[in-house]
Amino acid sequence: MSVMNLIMCLFLCTLSVCCFASSHRSILREVSDNDRSGIDRDYAVELNATSFDDVLKDTPATFAIVEFFAHWCPACRNYKPQYEKVARLFNGPDAVHPGIILLTRVDCAEKINTKLCDKFSVGHYPMLFWGAPPKFVGGSWEPKQKNSDIEVIDNARTADQLLTWINKQTSSSFGLDDQKFQNEHLSSNASDPQQIARGIYDVEEATSLAFDIILEHKMIKPETRASLLKFLQLLTAHHPSRRCRKGAGDLLVSFDDLYPTDSWSSHKQEEDKSLAKNFQICGKEVPRGYWMFCRGSKNETRGFSCGLWVLLHSLSVRIEDAESQFTFTAICDFVHNFFVCEECRQHFYKMCSSVSSPFNKARDFALWLWSTHNKVNERLGKEEASLGTGDPKFPKTVWPPKQLCSSCYLDHDQTSNKIEWNQDEVYKALRNYYGKTLVSLYKEKGIAGTEGAEGATLEDLTVGTNAVVVPVGAALAIAVASCAFGALACYWRSQQKSRKYFHHLHSLKNI
Ligand SMILES: Cc1cc2nc3c(=O)[nH]c(=O)nc-3n(C[C@H](O)[C@H](O)[C@H](O)COP(=O)(O)OP(=O)(O)OC[C@H]3O[C@@H](n4cnc5c(N)ncnc54)[C@H](O)[C@@H]3O)c2cc1C
Repeated sequence: MSVMNLIMCLFLCTLSVCCFASSHRSILREVSDNDRSGIDRDYAVELNATSFDDVLKDTPATFAIVEFFAHWCPACRNYKPQYEKVARLFNGPDAVHPGIILLTRVDCAEKINTKLCDKFSVGHYPMLFWGAPPKFVGGSWEPKQKNSDIEVIDNARTADQLLTWINKQTSSSFGLDDQKFQNEHLSSNASDPQQIARGIYDVEEATSLAFDIILEHKMIKPETRASLLKFLQLLTAHHPSRRCRKGAGDLLVSFDDLYPTDSWSSHKQEEDKSLAKNFQICGKEVPRGYWMFCRGSKNETRGFSCGLWVLLHSLSVRIEDAESQFTFTAICDFVHNFFVCEECRQHFYKMCSSVSSPFNKARDFALWLWSTHNKVNERLGKEEASLGTGDPKFPKTVWPPKQLCSSCYLDHDQTSNKIEWNQDEVYKALRNYYGKTLVSLYKEKGIAGTEGAEGATLEDLTVGTNAVVVPVGAALAIAVASCAFGALACYWRSQQKSRKYFHHLHSLKNI
């Protein structure tokens, strides 16, 4: 790309950003819309005809219970505390066993729900149904229906009876007195390739939490602004979740408006504080307050940092060759400026600094991130073993384990624990794991935006979907981001012979 073309492209991109920035203040959601401070709320989620399909389509839970009731019915009022005792275990950020069962209720006495209740042939109140959440979406039930995916729950008049019924269905032993983080039932997910499909919820959770932290801690400063913009560009183009791509695009487009370079007064900082309350980059359902793939067996283990790793790997397998150096710097700078774990960011920064030549291939960058993560695992494995601070259910090991990818291992010397890797196979494993499998649940639900795309390539699941499925505003944001991203990638390529990354890292030392 010639210098003239590059300047033209950047000019057009800047122009587009200016034009759309003012019209995108809508990303700042109303406080009332997502006030998460409600303390006396019910645990069971109240649905109506409008929200029914959306909530059941969106839930990470494997099963759902729908209670059809009428608010005037005394038996329903008496049943509510029983139902709530069970809902407390499974619903909401304080759930003891989150992400397994979603307990909901629909008030059939509300006019808006009449058709919905008819579709499920509700003959008495309360009436409870059980099934996989997607089976309820656009679903129905009839009394004489055989082989239905939705089942009526009989004999669940008390909380005990309902939980006994649930335990039978799920082969579990949940108890009404279970306390949070008694996660003995959790099994290590390292060798089951399908488990990472649940990681898509954690990637959303980690993204959302990362931005909550950035906004709440006023981490956007003149010197950190550019690195956040770079990371947002990366998320807008390649985040595996459609709603996070959209949120990142929205924020990117409005960024100059929200954080003008020339205004860092205390008044502005106060405004930022109120923005922090309102902006949720992956939509108003996220953060959900719990982890799925990254759930630890202890309160203080796994979670956010696990979700962040999964996000970084998922980005690394979605980029093009021309974006590899840009992605490397975007990730290194983001971790350095915005990851609040001091030891983590210092160690990671050192590893970034030790890279002496720019990346030209997406494969090389993905493998660098993989081996860097393994080095962290190796170091932490020893530390955790000596201090006893690790998660006993999830000890640090090299990845991928043999059960996940035996062809990745060329040779494994058990005495020295030295592994000779087949890097082509490792890259393939990374792409499968963090590419297709990671979004497979969302693909089934149509949330990845790939409905009906059987056998879609990784690219179909990422960049290609952006243009098709997002609303116009976000599509424009993505176009702007891709344009700026492309221009920057070209710029990097043209500069790579004369520049070394350590110059940039050197400048970071002043932060
Ligand atoms: C950039 C970064 C730097 C960090 N540095 C430190 C540090 O210096 N000190 C510290 O105490 N903690 C550090 N952490 C946190 C630490 O690495 C773990 O995230 C945390 O201990 C939780 O571990 P976990 O068992 O959930 O697995 P994690 O290490 O978080 O890994 C998450 C998942 O990724 C997969 N995985 C594991 N290894 C690889 C690999 N090599 N390639 C691809 N996938 C893999 C596994 O499925 C694993 O369950 C860092 C985190 C990040 C994101």
